[in-house]
Amino acid sequence: MLTPSINAVRFPEVSLQAPNWVNGNESPSSGARREVISPYTGKRIGTFNESTTAEIDVAIQSASVAFPKWKSTPIKERCQVLFHFRQILLRDLEELSHSVSRESGKTLSEARAGLLKGVEVIEFALSLQNRDEGGKLEVSRGVFCEYRREPLGVVAGITPFNFPAMVPLWMIPIAIALGNCFVWKPSDKTPLTSLPIAKALKEAGLPDGVFTVIQGGKEAVEAILDHPKVAAVGFVGSTPVARAVYTRGTQHGKRILALGGAKNHIILMPDADPDMAAKGIADSFTGCAGQRCMAASVLLAVGDTDRLIQGIVEKASQIRISEDMGAIITVESKKKIESAIQRAKEEGATLPLDGRTPNVPSEYVQGNWLAPTIIDHVQRDSHAAKEELFGPVLSIIRVKNLSEAIAIENSSEFGNAASVFTNTGAIAERVAREAQVGMVGVNIGVPVPREPFSFGGICDSKFGQGDITGPSSLDFWSNLKKITTKWSMSTDHNWMS
Ligand code: NAD
Repeated sequence: MLTPSINAVRFPEVSLQAPNWVNGNESPSSGARREVISPYTGKRIGTFNESTTAEIDVAIQSASVAFPKWKSTPIKERCQVLFHFRQILLRDLEELSHSVSRESGKTLSEARAGLLKGVEVIEFALSLQNRDEGGKLEVSRGVFCEYRREPLGVVAGITPFNFPAMVPLWMIPIAIALGNCFVWKPSDKTPLTSLPIAKALKEAGLPDGVFTVIQGGKEAVEAILDHPKVAAVGFVGSTPVARAVYTRGTQHGKRILALGGAKNHIILMPDADPDMAAKGIADSFTGCAGQRCMAASVLLAVGDTDRLIQGIVEKASQIRISEDMGAIITVESKKKIESAIQRAKEEGATLPLDGRTPNVPSEYVQGNWLAPTIIDHVQRDSHAAKEELFGPVLSIIRVKNLSEAIAIENSSEFGNAASVFTNTGAIAERVAREAQVGMVGVNIGVPVPREPFSFGGICDSKFGQGDITGPSSLDFWSNLKKITTKWSMSTDHNWMS
């Protein structure tokens, strides 16, 4: 057993609560009581109650009451609030990182990185006051056309366990900067970080009712999707739920953008830089313990890449549990991943790295731990090659050439991300052109675009139009109104007059 690091995640003595947040205040919910279990320790760290349909209705009604005033607040004033919010998140970065880590199983550095990515989205939202000025043009003599961007009303965000702060921060700043009132339904596995975020927005000066939190699971999601006052819903989570949310929400005439799961491929060419490949690929499949939609999951090893693969195995074997890599969200998820590894082995694959008996620090032995695992010689149509395992597992498929690698990548139902490790520009360019995904990396294992470049996949990794961040997110969270004006009679005539 190892000794826990002094940088270990802090666990408070008391059990934490995740209340709803309605009209600027904590608001207890009264449905079924649920426990929040830390993946680090396997112990209860908090509780929450599911929200009843009546409580959800009250919360959404209070958001809709706050909307007209927030809508008519000039964007520069709205951005002042978000600017203060940014400062508070940076001030409280350490506390928030502990909150994220203890409920999601992330390492502290991963939790910090997620929050800082959220801060970057706030900065993008702050830029809207200067760049989204609309536009006005004299289109005919004395006739002017003008764009005005208008908020939708009450909008909602439903988020997954694996980024308890970052994913909501993809949505909250942009939706609020544009003048909407935002209702957040956090993951029922990681509901606790929502309270410090709500308090930070209040401290920043956000008017009551502009930001709301509703706790719960499937029923809460359905109540939000069915509520007539909710105009749009951003969703991030697994593909089956994303599809169901998209279908139900659009049936009610709502605007829905639902990001789903992933099975990302990395193409490894024989000419790749060995150090870049070893680090980039090992970091990609082990970061967040493989529980991120951008994790490398399948390595398509082209030709003679044995030496490069050996470098990845060595790099991954040095990763220390809880120091460099976090825990798996639940016992059930861990068992599911372990049985997928066993299944691949029984189907004839080899295990150059088997993480199923990890070396865990003494105080975390009850947690959900799995060390990095590499499965080699995986069959292209097997379970390990096609299913999202959502753990620190890399499945290697050996292929003869680049065409075969691209064909396998493009046969996936998912389309989130793909990467290539190579030193040849023409190969990189071919992968960038031909990979049927939303995001491509060249010698980058986790090709997350930074702001202002937007985030989003295609195929079964996303249902709906546009991306969740970046320029197209403005069109998701708002409408463009077109105003055509004429103030005086003109002597000139054309087809318009
Ligand atoms: P999930 O689909 O189980 O849950 C997501 C949200 O939906 C949560 O708020 C949850 O409470 C709610 N929910 C769960 N089951 C539901 C149901 N049957 N009906 C309605 N709502 C339901 O996802 P998760 O396990 O929390 O997160 C992991 C998944 O999210 C992975 O598949 C991962 O790839 C995906 N993800 C995708 C992205 C992306 O950008 N594409 C980002 C992060 C995570």
